[in-house]
Amino acid sequence: MAIDEDQLAQQGRDTRQRLLQDIPWNRDLWHDLIERYHGAGLPHASLLLGNEGVGKRSFAFRLAKFLLCQSADKKQQVSVTTPCDRCHSCQLMDAGSHPDYFICDQEAKGKQIKVDAVRQLNEFFSKTPQISSCQVVQIYPIEALNINASNALLKTLEEPSGESYLLLIAERLGSVLPTIRSRTQRISFHPPNSQTALAWLAQRIENASPEDLSLALKQCSGGPLKAEAWLRQGLLPQDGVYVGLMQKWLAGQQQLQDVSKVLSKYELLDTINWWSGLSLDIIKMSMGASAQQISRPSQAQWIEQLAASAIKVKLLTLQKKLQEIAGQVVAGQGSFNSSLLLETLLLDWQQSFSSM
Ligand SMILES: [Zn+2]
Repeated sequence: MAIDEDQLAQQGRDTRQRLLQDIPWNRDLWHDLIERYHGAGLPHASLLLGNEGVGKRSFAFRLAKFLLCQSADKKQQVSVTTPCDRCHSCQLMDAGSHPDYFICDQEAKGKQIKVDAVRQLNEFFSKTPQISSCQVVQIYPIEALNINASNALLKTLEEPSGESYLLLIAERLGSVLPTIRSRTQRISFHPPNSQTALAWLAQRIENASPEDLSLALKQCSGGPLKAEAWLRQGLLPQDGVYVGLMQKWLAGQQQLQDVSKVLSKYELLDTINWWSGLSLDIIKMSMGASAQQISRPSQAQWIEQLAASAIKVKLLTLQKKLQEIAGQVVAGQGSFNSSLLLETLLLDWQQSFSSM
């Protein structure tokens, strides 16, 4: 599909618009950080850590905008807690062309961030700020840095240049090298409670039913922004396809290749996450959870049947395997033969039940 420049520019504007939104559940975190800025100052490198969809990137973008903002009274007055939105710097941030702001991210989801990208970042830091009084770099996600890139980044973390800020964003602390962890100050993000998240989602997506919102939220580990993207991309119909396929597959009504062929049309990570959610629901129900305590109460009857014949040890092993694969996919590690992997996992699924 050819995308022209106007469309790309529009996408850029939409993305920045999304990034600039004020996320209500992160307000306390924001005020703590700005208080620290006015007090002892912010550290050279921060590690923004939390599940996908809790608003880390919005937060980082807004923080970068604040740090770069040229408003004269920003440093003197503790009452200034947000970017001014009027100065040249703020305007450039909104336009997506600030010369003192550098984003280092994946070329595409699932790809590694290589050493060249970190070298560019070092080159950026070697210059003096052009407009603002400091420079800000954002790296996302840290898990995607390959080993050479991580080593190159370590040097930057050890030798801060001028007034510069590094905002490193990660979902899994376990995937961040200890040497990087120890050189950064951690900012932990948490999903809001489900009431807050559902109310926020209902405002964003007007025509979805409460059950759809709730399902999307649970499927996205409570991350409202991820749930919003999930709903906007129409992933709810995909949920129906998954359910239908797994019902047939586990009942022995469909061939392995046919099932994997349909699944291979979807993003591997979506399938892995969906499976992970299903296996967790089955494990929960096998331990006595009620329909209301699982992520898809409307499927409780089917899940209860699965729970009754589940071989728990095998299902737990499968769950662990799914988590590991999800971590590797996010980190862009390993080149997966998707159809082979899907077929192996489908067989694992089948073998996790005694009378299927
Ligand atoms: Zn400003």
